Amino acid sequence: MDVFSVTVLGSSAALPTANRNLSGQLVKIANQYLLIDCGEGTQIQLRRNKISIQRIDHIFISHLHGDHFYGLIGLLSSMHLLGRQKPVHIFAHEGLKKAIEVQLEVSQARLSFELNYHFLKNESGVVLVENKHFRVESIKLKHSIPCCGFLIREVEKPRNILKSAIEKYSIPIKDRPGIKMGEDFLTQGGKLIKNEEITSDPLTIRSYAYCSDTAYLESILEMISGVDLLYHEATFLEDKKERAKETFHSTAAQAAEIAKKAAVGQLLLGHFSARYKEMDLFLSEAKVIFDNVALAEDGIEYMIG
Ligand SMILES: [Zn+2]
Ligand SMILES: [Zn+2]
Repeated sequence: MDVFSVTVLGSSAALPTANRNLSGQLVKIANQYLLIDCGEGTQIQLRRNKISIQRIDHIFISHLHGDHFYGLIGLLSSMHLLGRQKPVHIFAHEGLKKAIEVQLEVSQARLSFELNYHFLKNESGVVLVENKHFRVESIKLKHSIPCCGFLIREVEKPRNILKSAIEKYSIPIKDRPGIKMGEDFLTQGGKLIKNEEITSDPLTIRSYAYCSDTAYLESILEMISGVDLLYHEATFLEDKKERAKETFHSTAAQAAEIAKKAAVGQLLLGHFSARYKEMDLFLSEAKVIFDNVALAEDGIEYMIG
């Protein structure tokens, strides 16, 4: 089975700390690298974790608060200095293009590769990337400025034809695509062989949802229902519930409530306010509501499914 994982590059909100960088994640899926958010220092975190920046072809920026994109110009510049030719696809709200262009212009810099912008519409369920391996869709979040989360899901896989069945019934190549899609097989002698006798179930479909930054929002439940791993922001603890509401952020308890209602496999909390020192409190607050929860730690690769 291919690796499907997320490496946390930054788990601090607004301000970096000695152990936590600003938002950034590297998702590995079907041998491709996707970058989600790119706070300041993200390229250093990539380097620290021995992740080749030239393998990143898709960058998703959730929203235009600085802690989620101020590292982007530096990353693009390094890609250029290292002689990149391949285009980069950037999925972000419209203002990002201007921010990048101004920086390139004042530095009189020209990148050696193309930047393809795809503007986020701030709607849920918009398909951003789709190929034969996976699909990336937007999730509309509730924040002080337009903000999107991302749902990354493997596509339906075909059934596997058993090697023994191919030999036993001499299944011709032309019949195999249909059998993979669930059809029965008619032998040359006219005998109908049921699909379940000659195939095995496909591998299960794995999925990951990134929801940061957002206030508590039940409208995301439908989209993230049953995902294997949910990364949900928990900027505050319940002691700052009011502050969370004012700033359109969530508490650890609220993130856990969302995980429970969406019946996800595992919850990963992140985007912690730098004011907190006792991080175990996030865990204990969430655990009361949803048991399978972990705190995001910079540099850790979390397997999905
Ligand atoms: Zn943020
Ligand atoms: Zn924000």
